[in-house]
Amino acid sequence: MGGGNAQKSAAARLKNLKDKGQTDEERKASSDKAKRDQCGFICKMCRTTFMINVKPPTLYLHVTSKHPAGTDPVSCFDALKDFDPEDPKGEKAAAAAKAAAGSKPKPKKKVKKGADDGLDLLSAGLTKGKKKK
Ligand SMILES: [Zn+2]
Repeated sequence: MGGGNAQKSAAARLKNLKDKGQTDEERKASSDKAKRDQCGFICKMCRTTFMINVKPPTLYLHVTSKHPAGTDPVSCFDALKDFDPEDPKGEKAAAAAKAAAGSKPKPKKKVKKGADDGLDLLSAGLTKGKKKK
């Protein structure tokens, strides 16, 4: 960058800061992001919008409470494609995954070398005493 302007006045710096903080592009970008976040999920049936950080059970609740029973959740939110109302927290899936993982051999624990411990202490003491450089 073309630095070297040691005589930047405080006013100029302030102006610079102001410009940097609020360029139209940046403002647009951040408002776009806010908009995106705000409209993270849009019900395709009634156009209700939900924040991007809303949890699938909330969306599902919308489907069941705002739309007739039997409404396909996916017809409201694509995000509910993998949502299982009987397993809203994915606990069943997690349990299944856990069971699958349980069949795998456990990682070996570090074997304690009981007999060597004494030796290690001894040699450590010896090394200390020698003050090896
Ligand atoms: Zn809806």
